[in-house]
Formats: sequence, structure tokens, C-alpha cells
Amino acid sequence: MRGAALLPVSGRHLRIREPRGEDELLVLESAGPATETMLALASRLAAGEDGSALDWPALPAVDLAAAALLVREAWLGGTIRTEALCPSMECAQPIDVSFGIAAYLDHHRPRRFRGAVEKDSGWFELDGADVRFRIPLIADLVAGTLGDCVRPAGVSTAEARRVDRALEALAPRLDGKLAGSCPACGRSVELRFEPISYVIEELRDASSGLFAQVHELARAYHWSEASILALDRARRRAYVSLIREEYALV
Ligand SMILES: [Zn+2]
Repeated sequence: MRGAALLPVSGRHLRIREPRGEDELLVLESAGPATETMLALASRLAAGEDGSALDWPALPAVDLAAAALLVREAWLGGTIRTEALCPSMECAQPIDVSFGIAAYLDHHRPRRFRGAVEKDSGWFELDGADVRFRIPLIADLVAGTLGDCVRPAGVSTAEARRVDRALEALAPRLDGKLAGSCPACGRSVELRFEPISYVIEELRDASSGLFAQVHELARAYHWSEASILALDRARRRAYVSLIREEYALV
């Protein structure tokens, strides 16, 4: 069991367990949208601090992106390293982009917003305007009902902008642009980062050895596929390395 990790908007603490083969299989075989895969994965791997199941659909949408980063931290470590290409045609050098998940979440933590007051059951009111809004939930993200989070429907552009500013403070989005500069030519570079799809892709890569490992264990020990997939990743790898050591000695 890992230490507690914090979902920034709901303030819920998570406990994230070591993935089992079954969890890696889910990542490898899911063909639907990354949001749905992440929701299924988070529901399996992450529980409340006391071990109780969380009501994920009722949590803020932004917290699913945070959960993606926290699962990634537990699974692969806290530093994300990715690569961009310098946009200058003459340069076109690869640029390493790296950042820490903890610092990224800290940079995007919610702030207070003056000009909006929380009324009953999660609805906020804009000062001096007949506009109410709520923080979009994971259920809205999955069902595509983000438009239901502002009332009345059809607010003015200026009011919609104020709602956006309020949400930017109360529930900052975790997707956006990472800025850096090319070490070769100095040109500034922007890289789009979308935590949920990025993390699912990375976990898929990290799980790519699963079938070969199941095969090695099944062949050596004659265990069933189900019992091998029920092992957590650390134990499965420990057995695989024992088998490989034995073959290396022969
Ligand atoms: Zn460059």
C-alpha cells in the first residue's frame, strides 16, 4: 500500500495499491475513450484513505486528471519525461521536457475566487448576475453534460467568461500547454499536455510485457492465467526474474 495522495478539488485523500496483472490487462485491452479507461482504473486501484470505495462519478472532473497523475506516480514514479520537437524548420532538434507530478499538481492547486459565492449543494452564484454554476463532475465528463453546469442556459459571453475565470480558480484544469525553450536554438516551444490520455498511453507501454510474462510463468509453473493475472506486478516480476535466472544458469 502506498501513502495517501490528495485529489486537489474534492480534497479527498487516496490510497493507491500496486497494480495487478488484471489491472494492466484492462489498460491493454480497453478500446474506449481514455476518460472511461481512467475511471475504471482509478476505481480499481484507488480507494479512500480508510480503504473505502469512492463515489467517483460524484467527484470533480478535474480530480480524474489528478487521479491519473497520482496513479502514474504510484505506478511509474513522480517524474514525467517526454519529448517535443523544436518547431523551427532549420533546427528541428528533439527537446526533452521533464517535470515532477507533485510540483505540477501544486502549481495547479485551487484558489479562492472573489466574486462567486457557494450556495446550496455545490452551486455557486456570480456576484451581481443572475447566473449559477457548479464545478463539473466526472459524471458530466463521461456523459458529455458539461453544458448543464451553468444556469440559465444561454448566458451572455461576458458572464460565461466570468464563470470560466471562477472555475479556473476553484477547479483549475490540469490539461494545457507546457512551455519551454529549445536548448539548441533558444526558440520557445509549447507542448500540449492532456494528463488522462498521456497517462493511459504510458501505462499501456509499461504493461506491454504482460503477455510474455504470463506465458513464462504458465510454462514454468503451470499456473492458470487467472491466478497469474491476480498477482500484483512486483510479485509477478519477482517470479519471472527467478525463472530467467534459472535459465541463465543452465
Ligand atoms: Zn531549436
